Amino acid sequence: MSTVYLNGEFLPLEEAKVPVLDRGFIFGDGIYELVPCYGGTPLRLAEHLARLKRSLAAIGLTNPYSDDEWRALIEQIVQRNGRGDLSVYFQVTRGVAKRDHSFPQGVMPTVFMMANPLATPSAAQVEGGVACISMPDNRWLRCDIKSISLLSNVLLRQAATDAGGAEVLLFRDGFLTEGSASNILVVREGQLLAPPKDNLILPGITYDLVMELDAKYGVPFEVREISEAETKSADELMLTSSVREVLSITTLDGEPIGNGRPGPIFRMLHKLYQDYKAGLSGEHQS
Ligand code: PMP
Repeated sequence: MSTVYLNGEFLPLEEAKVPVLDRGFIFGDGIYELVPCYGGTPLRLAEHLARLKRSLAAIGLTNPYSDDEWRALIEQIVQRNGRGDLSVYFQVTRGVAKRDHSFPQGVMPTVFMMANPLATPSAAQVEGGVACISMPDNRWLRCDIKSISLLSNVLLRQAATDAGGAEVLLFRDGFLTEGSASNILVVREGQLLAPPKDNLILPGITYDLVMELDAKYGVPFEVREISEAETKSADELMLTSSVREVLSITTLDGEPIGNGRPGPIFRMLHKLYQDYKAGLSGEHQS
């Protein structure tokens, strides 16, 4: 039975209860983070906490804890759930109040945290890549906020699932944004291309790490708008996220990308990512 954290207490998942008037339940009024942990060591925790702060500030919520308090809570939840490879999910909502769209005054935010086994891609997915579909990006214009209001993302992902795909690639005004729960990187003519981290995408921690690894290895990259045509005729496509790490997309809308097999830049980045993970434990992580 997993142990979760709710508003100052660690307790069994089954005993964790939130009042129905919680604004997370009523309005989806809250934000979240998910930190992957390998052998109990969080990956890029400082970056996740920085993004949490940006999300909280963007929705006008005071950060309930200091970075040190967040770190201590994450350490506790990891410890209480066996220190394996875990995804630590935490969310903050605007708390419990009579239903009214405007912010309530003097209400404590609700803080919830849980740890689940980290479901990284299977060897078959890494070796063979995954199929994806494309759809118009019909989400709001603040996709940079890690909001718990994920209805569009849920519907878009379900469309991919219904089509037998692993993810949906989203296009707005003819340009690539991201996936329903991942960032998308494109390889063309030996160069790695990444969409700009503006209001139209979530600034992924994995995106940053993969770009860093790419730069370290000396593969040229460019951050710029990428058209739908460039995406669909790419030599390689890959997705990045904390859970899926870096994963090759080998077909899009049923058409092969490149030769339909994971390409050399993906293989290099995947190896560098695995090496980075292996070097995590014991090292000081930012
Ligand atoms: N975009 C969206 C919409 C996401 O939900 C996620 C995963 N949380 C990402 C990108 C990837 O972010 P990260 O690498 O920080 O997991």
